[in-house]
Amino acid sequence: MTIKNVKKRWKDIPIGGVIVEPKTSLRNKTGNWRVQKPVFHPERCIHCMLCVPYCPEDAFIVEDGKLKGINYDYCKGCGLCASVCPVKAITMEDENVEQENDEK
Ligand code: SF4
Ligand code: SF4
Repeated sequence: MTIKNVKKRWKDIPIGGVIVEPKTSLRNKTGNWRVQKPVFHPERCIHCMLCVPYCPEDAFIVEDGKLKGINYDYCKGCGLCASVCPVKAITMEDENVEQENDEK
């Protein structure tokens, strides 16, 4: 149901009727939301994978049980990963600073 089709009386609106559809970052790249970006330092990483489930955008690149990097098309720069990493293998930097470890 679209908002255009909603009837005038509020009692006529079905429960949840104004929700058109759930959104997903698979279709909506969220990388341009960032003001800060996480920078991965692979030499410090112990591959504990603690950061992976905390990422709200599933932006981590994992191969063969190893953390390989960050997909910046989807990373929105929330900083959760840097907060939970026990060995500071992810640091937050200003978005406009060029980094050697950028994946994209
Ligand atoms: S800052 Fe870290 S936790 Fe947040 S979206 Fe980017 S990769 Fe995921
Ligand atoms: S939490 Fe830190 S050490 Fe663990 S996999 Fe992520 S970056 Fe590597």
